[in-house]
Amino acid sequence: MNTWDNGFRGKPGHGMSHTLSFGGAASFFRVPYQTDLTEVDVVVIGVPLDIATTNRPGARLGPRAIRNASLSLAWERPWPWNMDPMHVLRVIDCGDCEPTNDDLLSVSHIEAHIAKIISSGAAALILGGDHFVAYPSLRAHAAAYGPISLIHFDAHTDTWPSSGNGINHGTMFHQATHEGIVNPASSTQIGIRTTNDDTLGFHIVSATDVHQMTGRDLAKQILERVGDSPVYITFDIDCLDPAFAPGTGTPVPGGLSSFQALNIIRELKGINLVGMDVVEVAPAYDHAEITALAAAQIAVELLCLYAERHRQKN
Ligand code: MN
Ligand code: MN
Repeated sequence: MNTWDNGFRGKPGHGMSHTLSFGGAASFFRVPYQTDLTEVDVVVIGVPLDIATTNRPGARLGPRAIRNASLSLAWERPWPWNMDPMHVLRVIDCGDCEPTNDDLLSVSHIEAHIAKIISSGAAALILGGDHFVAYPSLRAHAAAYGPISLIHFDAHTDTWPSSGNGINHGTMFHQATHEGIVNPASSTQIGIRTTNDDTLGFHIVSATDVHQMTGRDLAKQILERVGDSPVYITFDIDCLDPAFAPGTGTPVPGGLSSFQALNIIRELKGINLVGMDVVEVAPAYDHAEITALAAAQIAVELLCLYAERHRQKN
């Protein structure tokens, strides 16, 4: 009988772990920690950067908090998907993007790290970090797939004007749009409840729209817009109401419940998902892991969405 920790001895594609949910190495959903990208479908990586935060810092501790919270969800297949994404997909956790001595988590550094994963043929599931990490990620994805359709969950549009020189977690989608790596005409922003007069052409589904529409009708709008273009889902946890995600740097009241967000994700089956991130979890402001649990659940359901399409193709 093998009694070694599943975080080390587990095999990619062998399904959700039946080992300790309350102990062991805190890999994402207890998938094996490994850096060998051979024959891997999805690589989970943390990017513990929060130097682009404009309000309260602390999202650098997000990856660790999400992994920790994921352990208590890792004992059974995520409801209501009726599948084990860790069985359909070979998923590994390869830890966090490490800074080097002369390059402290810069754009090119993170971009190169994610590009390495994409060029291996795997998809990346990124745990932030503040939302700025989506920018180097989008650069890496656009280099491989061309202009990306963004499905963006957030209280904020993050399209405020940028000179392109600094780093700021509220401007990177302005920058990405102007670089042509994101196509706003096929993109949607969901849960918005802050004022930004210039939409740059993104379709905005405000928090009010979410409260007044069904998840299915809303998903239909998103699906029609993206078609079969390559999609990147970026989930800023402050899309959720502070009641459901207090542990974040820039909370805004009047947001989505965890259910509303998950319900939309569940209705997006069939999209050509190529990459995903969950960002802005700042555990110092969290209580009873409310925010980290929501982030872990959202992340694993994004994996289910990816697995669904993967299963259709194979
Ligand atoms: Mn936000
Ligand atoms: Mn954001």
